[in-house]
Amino acid sequence: MLSVINICKNVHIHTLLVQQIRFKSKTHWAKLRKKTSPKYKAQNHFDEFYGSVFGGKWPPMKEAMLRRSKYVAVVNNYGDAEETIAFLTERGAHCLRALMSVQEEFHKQFPPTPTHTDTQAASVEQFTAKVQSDDISSIYPQDNLPEKLELSDMTIRSSEEEKEVEKQTVKSQTLEESLASAQMDMSRIIDPSMGVTSEALYQYVPATQLKGMDEWVPESLHYSYYSKDTDFPLAIEPETEFSFPEHLKVYTYEMGSEWNMFPEPKRCKTNVLNYYPMDCGSVLAVLALCLSPGDRVLDLCSAPGGKALVALQTLLPDVIVCNDSSISRTNRIGRIFRDYLIDFDTSNSWRERVLISTRDGRDFTDDQGFDKVLVDVPCTTDRHTMNEDENNIFRPDRIKERLRMPEMQSQLLTNALKLVRVGGAVVYSTCSLSPVQNDGVVHMALKHAFETHGIIATVKDLSAPFASLAGTLSLAAGSIAPRYGQLVTPTNDANFGPSYITRLVRVK
Ligand code: SAM
Repeated sequence: MLSVINICKNVHIHTLLVQQIRFKSKTHWAKLRKKTSPKYKAQNHFDEFYGSVFGGKWPPMKEAMLRRSKYVAVVNNYGDAEETIAFLTERGAHCLRALMSVQEEFHKQFPPTPTHTDTQAASVEQFTAKVQSDDISSIYPQDNLPEKLELSDMTIRSSEEEKEVEKQTVKSQTLEESLASAQMDMSRIIDPSMGVTSEALYQYVPATQLKGMDEWVPESLHYSYYSKDTDFPLAIEPETEFSFPEHLKVYTYEMGSEWNMFPEPKRCKTNVLNYYPMDCGSVLAVLALCLSPGDRVLDLCSAPGGKALVALQTLLPDVIVCNDSSISRTNRIGRIFRDYLIDFDTSNSWRERVLISTRDGRDFTDDQGFDKVLVDVPCTTDRHTMNEDENNIFRPDRIKERLRMPEMQSQLLTNALKLVRVGGAVVYSTCSLSPVQNDGVVHMALKHAFETHGIIATVKDLSAPFASLAGTLSLAAGSIAPRYGQLVTPTNDANFGPSYITRLVRVK
C-alpha cells in the first residue's frame, strides 16, 4: 500500500515537474517572440541609428516616446468657439498664440543665438559607412573579402534579420557540425496574427545568386539617400513673413504640467465637435505654410485630414485640395470634415472650396498652380512603430517599402515643388527623427527639382519664429539641430512629436 502511495506521489511530482518545465518553456518562447516583434525591431534600429546621431540626447527622447503623447486642442470655429475656449481655459489650458507672443517679447530683449552646427551630417555619414560595411561583411565572409569592395558591386541584399546570423564567421564544417551549432533565426517565424499571406512567405526564402537577386536592396540603400553635394543653387534665409493666424485658436497645457489630457470632444449646438485634439508638431506644419487670405492650397498626402482641418480653421484658404493615394484613408477625410464643418455634405460653399481627390501624389498634376502645398509624407512614424506592432513599417514583409521610403518621399516633394507657383511655398513634414527622411529628402528633392525641372527654391529658416515656442515644446538645437528644418523632439515635460518641418519658397 505504502509503495503504491509512493508511486502515486512520484507520478504526481513528475507531472508537476513536467508541467512546470512546460510552463517555463512557454514563458521563454513568448518572450522570444515578443523581442523579435516589429516594435522591438524598430526600437533596436532606432537605438543604433538615433543613438549615433543624437548621442546622449536619444535615451530621454526614447523614454518619452514610449510614454503617452501630449496633445493640444484646436478649437472648432464652426462650433460654439467661445464656450469651448471657456471650457478649455477652466481646465488650465493656455492659448498657444498668447504663449508665443510672451516668448517673442522675451526674445526681442534677449535674441537667441543661432545654434545649428553640421555635426549631424557627420554622424549620419559615419553611421552610413558602418551600415555599408555591415552589409558587405554579412554577404562576403571575412576570408573571401575582395581587397576593395564598393556597395554598388553587391548583387544581393542581406536584410537586417539575416545580419545577426551571417555576421558570425563562416568556417568550413561538416553537415553534422553545422546542424549541431545551428541557431534558429526566430525573426523568420511568422506570427499568424500579423495577417501575412502565403505569398509573403516567399520573401523569407534566403537570397541566392539565382533567385530574386534584383528584388533585394541593401539596408544601407536607405542611408545612401543622405547626400551633402551642393552642386545646385542652395540658399537658406531667415523667415520674415511668419505670423500666427488671427482666427486659429489652439489650447495647450504648460510644459511639465500634471494636466496633460483633454476629454473626448463633444457635439456643439451646431452638431459639430467642439475641438480637434492633435500633436502640437502637426499644428506647426500648418503654421509654417504662412497662409494668406484667398490662398489656393494643396495638401498632397492629406488623410485623415487633421492638418487640412487646421488650415481651414485659420479661415484663410479660398480653396483646399485634399489628396491621398489611399481610398480608404481618403474616406476618413470626409468623415472628419463631416464631424467638424457644418453641413459639409450639403453646402455648395464647401463643395466649391474643399476638393477631395485620390491620386498618387507623385503624379498629381494641375494647371493653375497652388499658393501653398503641404507635403506631409508617409514616413517611419517613429512613435507609432516603437509602440504598436499593427501596421508597423518594421514588419519583415514591409522591408523594401521602408528602405525605399526616402526615394518616394523625395519624389512627392519634387512634385510639390513643380505644383507650387513661383513665389509660393511648400512645407515638407514628417513625424520621424530620421535625418535621412528629413534633411536628406529635402536636399535630394531640391537637387532633383533643379537638375530635372530647373526649379529653384529657398529654404526658409524658421528658427526665429519657432523660438517663441520654447515654453511649450522642445526643438532640437545645437549639435542635433537639422540644417534645413525644425525638429520637435519628445521630452517627458513636453511630450509632442517627433515632427520635422521645413518651409521652401519657390523662386524659379
Ligand atoms: N497629413 C495627414 C494629416 O495631417 O492627417 C497625415 C498624412 S500621413 C503622415 C501620410 C499619408 O500619405 C497617408 O495617408 C498615406 O495614405 C499617404 N500616401 C502614401 N503614399 C502616397 C502617395 N504616393 N501619394 C499620396 N499620398 C500618399
